[in-house]
Amino acid sequence: MLQRTQIRIEGIVQGVGFRPFVYREALACGVSGWVLNDSRGVLLEAEASPRQLATFLVRLQQRLPPLASITALSQRALPPEGGQGFQIRPSQHQAASEAQIAPDTCVCPECRQELFDPSNPRYRYPFINCTNCGPRYSIVTGIPYDRPKTTMATFTMCPSCQAEYDDPASRRFHAQPNACPQCGPRLQLFKADGGLAATSSPLEAAIGLLQQGRILAIKGLGGYHLAVDACNHQAVAELRRRKARDEKPFALMSGSLAQVRRYARVSASEEHLLTGTERPIVLLEQRLESHLSPLVAPRNGYFGVMLPYTPLHYLLLQDDFLALVMTSGNLSDEPIVFRDEEARARLAAIADAFLSHNREIHTRSDDSIIRTIADKPVLLRRSRGYVPRSIPLPVMQGNVLAVGGELKNTFCLTRRDRAFLSQHIGDLNHPEVSSAFEQSIQLMQHILEWQPQVIAHDLHPDYQSTRYAETRRDLPAVAVQHHHAHLASGMAEHGLTEPCLGMIFDGIGYGADGHIWGGEFLLGDYRGYQRLGHFAYVPMPGGDAASRQPYRMALSYLYQAYGEDLPELPVLTNIPAGERKLLLQMIDQSINSPLTSSCGRLFDAVAALVGLRSHVSYEGQAALELEMTIAEGAAFTPYPYQLRRIAGQLIFDPQQCLRAVVEDLQKGTPVARISGAFHITLASMLLEVCRELGEQSGVSRVVLSGGVFQNRFLTEHATSLLQGAGLEVFTHSLVPPNDGGLSLGQAVIAGQWLKTSAGI
Ligand code: ZN
Ligand code: ZN
Ligand code: FE
Repeated sequence: MLQRTQIRIEGIVQGVGFRPFVYREALACGVSGWVLNDSRGVLLEAEASPRQLATFLVRLQQRLPPLASITALSQRALPPEGGQGFQIRPSQHQAASEAQIAPDTCVCPECRQELFDPSNPRYRYPFINCTNCGPRYSIVTGIPYDRPKTTMATFTMCPSCQAEYDDPASRRFHAQPNACPQCGPRLQLFKADGGLAATSSPLEAAIGLLQQGRILAIKGLGGYHLAVDACNHQAVAELRRRKARDEKPFALMSGSLAQVRRYARVSASEEHLLTGTERPIVLLEQRLESHLSPLVAPRNGYFGVMLPYTPLHYLLLQDDFLALVMTSGNLSDEPIVFRDEEARARLAAIADAFLSHNREIHTRSDDSIIRTIADKPVLLRRSRGYVPRSIPLPVMQGNVLAVGGELKNTFCLTRRDRAFLSQHIGDLNHPEVSSAFEQSIQLMQHILEWQPQVIAHDLHPDYQSTRYAETRRDLPAVAVQHHHAHLASGMAEHGLTEPCLGMIFDGIGYGADGHIWGGEFLLGDYRGYQRLGHFAYVPMPGGDAASRQPYRMALSYLYQAYGEDLPELPVLTNIPAGERKLLLQMIDQSINSPLTSSCGRLFDAVAALVGLRSHVSYEGQAALELEMTIAEGAAFTPYPYQLRRIAGQLIFDPQQCLRAVVEDLQKGTPVARISGAFHITLASMLLEVCRELGEQSGVSRVVLSGGVFQNRFLTEHATSLLQGAGLEVFTHSLVPPNDGGLSLGQAVIAGQWLKTSAGI
């Protein structure tokens, strides 16, 4: 008794060796039929006995090639045809494509083995790849995903590469970037002046320069890195000097886990993340006795570390370095440089030489950043290695383009029950980033063959993303309140549809009352939200300037707590008398002093108060450094604070907490203890708020979102307190808690709006 069935498979099933995999499994199970790629994914027909078919189906789902993932599998019974054998048929391309492109992926173990095998034709060839590994998203120029629609189109395969490409039994069957030293891309070394360096071995010459302490711009998968030997203090100092004003920690790359363990602690879950095919930067606790330059990550208890992900990285790091600094190739705040001419023009003042190659990067993407909190991974930046993998949505919805926020921007496209979150775009207040944002939207729409029905944007009228939304006059627009979007983002990630409490501890976002929100107690779902409470408002003297100069927030909070009798503390006495007077006048007369309920600004105030930071060069810096000071293993008692009911809302007033911090400072209590007690105060307050609002609303699901929840200490303590009280806690993992996750929340809210407006 033969049965025949048609099977449709959707997900990442093209360009990942899926058809040869189906072919091999079909032969192994004694199944006849065929398989092909079409615009929705993979379509196949299989005929065999019911038992053989059942085994075949199980194997299809359980033995997937490394880069493949199935998001949907459906079947339809057909009359048997009694055919023989199994064929891979040519692709069919129809109008609407739903096939998904794979992310860029780290070189696989087989290719790595060939890379270091002297008898292999690709021995030490920096562009070795196969269907299980290599560049994907960054080289795609269109669909279907085929060599002519990639930046490999300009390279013609030699007969031996072509033979592999055509052979279903080969690991390189239809591997679009397939190449070898005879026919593929080549390394090039350029001098700082842009001229080609006279060397027959660019790789060895580059390693030599790094050993001499030179700064190299190195072309990677999604853009250029700036590299120096991380153990060479002078070289690291010089890189910091040339990258002017940038105080962000530098990322590191080491050749092996054993090397990483020499300067950082690696838990089992962190090891798993480091060695995963996405190869993100993992934040790891520093060891005290490391040989690395202290300027790699000043004032930070962590190193951002990744393992090599391209063959070139493996070759660079094979013997000569404990770790290389591998920081994004850009000037402060500019987008990562990815085009060759651009790199040589813009990085000329930083790099001593350029290790480049002639395989073009079509789409830029930064390294992803991940940290573990309560032993679970939390993506702080979701980019290379993860994008454009889709995120499942809790419900089906129409096509939404959500343009995200202003800082750490990402955008999001939705189709049916899938969301496609873009790579990290950056801070849109930079004009270069803003144009990269528009190009990336065009490209993503193009490769997904997708058109929006509605556009979602932030409530803030001056965000570049909001302005972009206004230019798309062809589309209905939905304005989404910033912290409602954070809540929805957390809910969507966990597939929640019932109303949740949203504790949104954030930097700043435009509030529905015109004030600047950022410490919000919300109750809501995708339809809407209620603001059940918030952090007490405090003036931000100078507006945005107060975000860059935390001492202004310290002054504002202390003025609120003490009035005219301000305590004598360095944070205040360091402000020149004239400026101090002016700032207090601005506060008194409400001149350029918007009110804020931001939790991030409270962190800034405390960091400034304890003397950690009076100025910052990036959002969240003061808060991060405050977290890093916490004394390890100590127990802390919360400071006093007040929760008040005002006009039906629950208001957190930290005045008593700030007074207690001041008293501790005057007593000479170490910052490590003050910081711990401050964090614990917020966690206790959060518990009290959730208990009270939970009782009031009957809701026991709590979503923690907003940039402050990148803070490990606060998130871990808040989560365990809430769980101890019987509340269900949802924290971010796949989607960043910071504004990088905002677009997903906007997208599901607008998706809901689309349904409501269509009367569904
Ligand atoms: Zn491979
Ligand atoms: Zn070749
Ligand atoms: Fe935010």
